[in-house]
Formats: sequence, structure tokens, C-alpha cells
Amino acid sequence: MPVLGLGTWENDDAEQCAESVRTALEAGYRHVDTAQIYGNEDAVGDGIAAADVDREDVFLATKVWIDELSHDDVIESTEESLDRLGTDYLDLLYVHWPAREYEAEETLGALEELKEDGKIDRIGVSNFEPEHLETAQDAIDAPIFANQVEMHPLLQQRELREYCADTDIELVAYSPLARGDVFDVDVISEIADAHDASAAQVSLAWLREKGVTAIPKATGEDHIRDNWESLGASLSDEEVERIDDIDRTERQVHPDFAPDAW
Ligand code: NAP
Repeated sequence: MPVLGLGTWENDDAEQCAESVRTALEAGYRHVDTAQIYGNEDAVGDGIAAADVDREDVFLATKVWIDELSHDDVIESTEESLDRLGTDYLDLLYVHWPAREYEAEETLGALEELKEDGKIDRIGVSNFEPEHLETAQDAIDAPIFANQVEMHPLLQQRELREYCADTDIELVAYSPLARGDVFDVDVISEIADAHDASAAQVSLAWLREKGVTAIPKATGEDHIRDNWESLGASLSDEEVERIDDIDRTERQVHPDFAPDAW
């Protein structure tokens, strides 16, 4: 899975969203993240089709919404996602939240069938805590490939990182810029100045140092390129430690159906 992807939540204008995806792919991105609930799968598909990049070279991920988690709904809604995205397979399909109709054996059993049928290459989950991951992996034989969760310097996910490292589950960081809040953290600005880099690049470089894939959302070419260039930024051990020491726990995303532990 490419370590840097393009997020698309709230990239709602269809023409703009398709243009963001095309721009990102032509700038070098090979990983695009969407979801049924974002309402932009059509536009993401249009952007991929418009880019001068083969579909097979793109790592495409979407997520099944919490109202579609019964067995038949997972299968049907995924077929609809494939149609909208203009593709016959997904590289990764996530269960968006362990909420509402989620039931580990039924829901993940349906994803396992989709994998056996060649409709999806990998099974993912999102917003799962260690106890959900344990039940999920017990429910199916296929591996849980990735857990997509909020992670950035203001929400460092130490416990989950340890659990995922021990169980070979990839972590994908959503809201990797804390939806803009990392730009106001002194330590991050100081490190950015020292590298003549942006605060966004420092946050993304720190996630990469932690072995975590990041999917910043960016709309226009400036932000898309700024984030892509984070791949050239490397932090010293001391800089990584200074960010590790930021002692804040601030979530950007906490809907009322989030896990009880939050
Ligand atoms: P984010 O990526 O942390 O932040 C996005 C915000 O930062 C946007 O306002 C964007 O502005 C701005 N930005 C991006 N690059 C910038 C740069 N280089 N300099 C200055 N500003 C910059 O927040 P997010 O959208 O919440 O998270 C990223 C993706 O994760 C989402 O789009 C979605 O794909 C995924 N996600 C998943 C879940 C889940 O439950 N699984 C939840 C939330 C998000 P512009 O748009 O104007 O460029």
C-alpha cells in the first residue's frame, strides 16, 4: 500500500473532486481514499479515468457505510460502489465504523466472500479499537489488512500502534493534519522552519517515521503537491522525539456512534 494517499472527504463538488484526483495521480500519488458516505465515488472514478495513469497502478480504497453492514447490503452496496468508481475491483474495502448494523461474523463474512470472488483484494476496518480488532480477526480466516483511524501529532494512538504492530495490521492515519490543527503547534512550526518545509510536511513525515500510511485530504494543486513533497522530508531522531513528547489527546472526529471507549 503506498505510504501516502489522497483523502477525499468533503471534496464534494464533483468536477473539483475529479480534478483533485487527476492532479494527485499525475503528481505521483498512487493511493486514493473515498467512502460510500462521501457521495463522491463517481467523481473519484472520473478522476482516475481522466488521469494518465493505469487503473492497475492505483491503490483504490472505499468504505462500506454503517447502514449497509448486513450480509446482503455489504455485497449489494459494494457492487454499487464498483459501478460508481468505474472499476471491477477494489484494492481495499473498509468497514467504516463498528457501529449500527455491524456484526463481526456477518459483516466481515460478506467482505470475505467479496475477496474470494475477486471483487476486493484486501479487507480493512476503520475506527476499530483493539477489542474490535480481536473479535474481527477471530470472525474470519482472511487477514484484516488495515485499520484506518484518526492519527496525527495531537492524537498519537500509542496503544493501537502497539497492538497493530503485534498483530501485523497496517495502520492508516486519517485526518493526518488534524484537519488543520497541527499548523498551530509550536514544536511542529519550529521543525518546519528548520527544514524550510511546511507544517503539513512535518506532520506527514512524522507519521511515516511511525510506519503509518497517511491520507491527507487536499483539494487544489498547491496542497496536493505540498503534501506529496513530504516524502522528501526526513526528521532527525531528536525531532521525532520532540513530536512524540507533545502531550495532547485531541480528536477531530467523534460522531455519536463512535466506540464507547472514546
Ligand atoms: P486532514 O487531511 O487532516 O486535513 C484536511 C484539511 O487540511 C483541508 O482543509 C485541506 O484544505 C487542508 N490541507 C491539506 N493539505 C494542506 C497543506 N499542505 N497546507 C495547508 N492546508 C492543507 O483531514 P481529513 O479530511 O479529515 O482527513 C483526511 C482523509 O481521511 C479524509 O479526506 C478521508 O478520506 C479520510 N477520513 C476517514 C475517516 C474515517 O472514519 N475512516 C474520518 C475522517 C477522514 P484543502 O481541502 O483546501 O486542500
